[in-house]
Amino acid sequence: MSGHAIVVGGGIGGLAAAVALRRIGWRATVLERAGELREIGAGMSQAPNALRALEELGVGGQARAAGVPTFSAGNLRLPDGRYLQRARPGDPTPLLAFHRADLHKLLLEGVPDGWLRTGTEVTGLRQDERGVTVVWDGGEARADLVIGADGIRSTVRRLLWPDTPPPRFLGRTAWLGIAPTGGLPGSITMGSGGYFLIHPISRGRAYWAYVTTADRPEVRYEKEKAEAARRLAAWHEPIPELIAATPDEAVIHIDICDLDPLPSYVRGRVALLGDAAHAMSPDRGQGAGQSIEDAVVLAAALSGEAATGAAAGGAIEGALRRYDTERRPRTQATARGARADGRRTTAPAAHRVLTTMIRLMPAALWRQGITADGNATWRWQPPHLPVAPGR
Ligand SMILES: Cc1cc2nc3c(=O)[nH]c(=O)nc-3n(C[C@H](O)[C@H](O)[C@H](O)COP(=O)(O)OP(=O)(O)OC[C@H]3O[C@@H](n4cnc5c(N)ncnc54)[C@H](O)[C@@H]3O)c2cc1C
Repeated sequence: MSGHAIVVGGGIGGLAAAVALRRIGWRATVLERAGELREIGAGMSQAPNALRALEELGVGGQARAAGVPTFSAGNLRLPDGRYLQRARPGDPTPLLAFHRADLHKLLLEGVPDGWLRTGTEVTGLRQDERGVTVVWDGGEARADLVIGADGIRSTVRRLLWPDTPPPRFLGRTAWLGIAPTGGLPGSITMGSGGYFLIHPISRGRAYWAYVTTADRPEVRYEKEKAEAARRLAAWHEPIPELIAATPDEAVIHIDICDLDPLPSYVRGRVALLGDAAHAMSPDRGQGAGQSIEDAVVLAAALSGEAATGAAAGGAIEGALRRYDTERRPRTQATARGARADGRRTTAPAAHRVLTTMIRLMPAALWRQGITADGNATWRWQPPHLPVAPGR
């Protein structure tokens, strides 16, 4: 089966979906509301599950070239600098860290010219048994199916799932930055009420994030960098140094929110993907990775349908139902786990117990848990995508 899909949203999830559709011989139109396609200046890590999905999309080599191995899961510290667990020189790590823009760019390079339409904010959607029409200010387009990859505040979700509650503020806030500091291995420092993450990223830079509790959302400071520096002044180096080295305009302050589980990711010929379906707390470093997995599974479901040549309605709806059945349990369990991890790692009352448990864990056991197949989330294997001729 081949056909034409409209993807709403040109973030990591939307672009991964377009690349996946191209692989199986579909056409796609990506509609992005931003006038120019670019990712905000922050970093992220990708775990083995997502790296395997990128491989299946045909961009594994590019991802390995753009990512930097990070030992964030191997180097756990306390604010006074003591190590709870420490990676040994020469240890392997299955995690790669990226500047978001690098990951975004390598996916964008897999999207054919002419598939992306920027400056197009989708505002309406209607479907019948033969297709879906997507509407924006001044235009509309029709396709065999629509993928809503338009993020945590998804318009597609609001239009088709109007009773869904808005994103939930999780009582945590975060400062993020990119410093021109190379040579750091990656680490997490666990304080009482917050943690500080460092990943090395491309071109000799470091991405850092400080996640901490907050009573309410949307509290902002005149000087965000100064506020982060003030809160972390007594923490071990290189934390104060990293913040000091970060240009003021490269510090971002966001609130941490997620989505309550949806009863379905699919309605007729429309499927939600990525944060639109299952936005999660960042504490497991899985949000974007799950969106890349979604893209591969969705394309595999579509390619598994009878090769009739035309995108028959029943076949599309069947494929989307299979996508929903396969993706909902895994992504919702990951989101639940991330929400609980975030609560545990930032709750002052849990700090002493948690850090003592980590310190007492035998180093060999800790290392076992952070190998490529050391935990259930990372062990995931993508379905194989049958690559269409010329793709
Ligand atoms: C602090 C932090 C750290 C994180 N760290 C990690 C990590 O280490 N690893 C990881 O895998 N994930 C991480 N994540 C999660 C990750 O950032 C998200 O899960 C991922 O970016 C979601 O991608 P998406 O494409 O689904 O949505 P988005 O990136 O939100 O993209 C949605 C796109 O849709 C567009 N859009 C919105 N509405 C419309 C409309 N009506 N019409 C057209 N276009 C529209 C938007 O402009 C945007 O470009 C982190 C998140 C945070 C907040």
